[in-house]
Amino acid sequence: MIQNENQKETSPRRKKLQKIGVFTSGGDAPGMNAAIRAVTRAAIANKLKVVGIRRGYQGMIEGDFIPLKSNDVSGILQTGGTMLKTARSAEFRTPEGREKAYQQLKKAEIDAVVVIGGDGSFTGALVLSQEYDISFVGIPGTIDNDLYGTDYTIGYDTALNTVVEAVDKIKDTARSHGRIFFVEVMGREAGLLALTSGIACGAEVILIPESNEQHSELQKFLKKGYRKKETSGIIMVAEGDEAGGAIKIAEQVRREHPDLDVRVSILGHIQRGGSPTAKDRVNATKMGVAAVEALLDDQQSIMIGLNNEKIVHVPFNKAVKMNHAIDINLLEIQKLLNI
Ligand code: ATP
Repeated sequence: MIQNENQKETSPRRKKLQKIGVFTSGGDAPGMNAAIRAVTRAAIANKLKVVGIRRGYQGMIEGDFIPLKSNDVSGILQTGGTMLKTARSAEFRTPEGREKAYQQLKKAEIDAVVVIGGDGSFTGALVLSQEYDISFVGIPGTIDNDLYGTDYTIGYDTALNTVVEAVDKIKDTARSHGRIFFVEVMGREAGLLALTSGIACGAEVILIPESNEQHSELQKFLKKGYRKKETSGIIMVAEGDEAGGAIKIAEQVRREHPDLDVRVSILGHIQRGGSPTAKDRVNATKMGVAAVEALLDDQQSIMIGLNNEKIVHVPFNKAVKMNHAIDINLLEIQKLLNI
């Protein structure tokens, strides 16, 4: 590890908060702009200066900073994507990269930072704040809704509604032709999006990484359910399902049941875009204001969460290391109704 005079030794007395940075990192999610707006305006209302850090940790390393005034965040509440852009930075994973990032923050006189992203982004913030004297507060922004300690992450509700709208359309054509569609949704390690959208769309089977019992349900549907009803079928597949994604599963089903008309639809990046739902805008706004309040309160290394609609503070090390429990009972409900 690099040793220099800036490196943290004990816990020095913090200087008064005057200027904060805000950035988005990792995968983008609809509602990130609403969070940037809330952070910027809440900070300005509290007489703080605000700097936008562009392109995640890579922009931090390169000093890609822009001052943010109230007007700069006008007209973004309803837009998807992130006005600050986002990135994944391999350089930030190195001690040398983090030292550059810290020097840039220091040069810009940034006292504390709001990071909007997922578990990787919070891990990066935790590592930097352990090495150097800089505070971070996190806002969960990921369509996966997979962070421990919060009921919602920004973007999940919009992505869920995007999936439901798309699957409703697929269902129309599936019914017309009597086809079975394997619909793959995002979620490398988390199946919540597939599970919830599957319930909302009345899917016949839902395949998620958190449960491997569903493959026998799929066999039951193919052998009995589909033939009995002589209808169509929607099989929701989380991309991280252990059987290997919709294409692979569908290929195997075609081999085993050559008489069935099997199709695949991978929803892909449309799930990340679009105007955020009212729920995502409200949650992002509440969390953005709470993040500034937490920094003013001298909090650090915590993620702002929502628990039963109330703001909670979750330590970064818990948010990134523990799993978000998924309501597996929803699978039972889905089975019960699929008669
Ligand atoms: P998503 O859930 O959408 O993938 P994320 O925040 O988890 O979002 P990651 O790509 O995992 O996205 O992390 C974003 C960035 O955080 C990485 O590109 C890297 O710069 C930084 N980061 C992640 N893990 C670490 C780590 N262990 N040490 C230092 N930096 C890290």
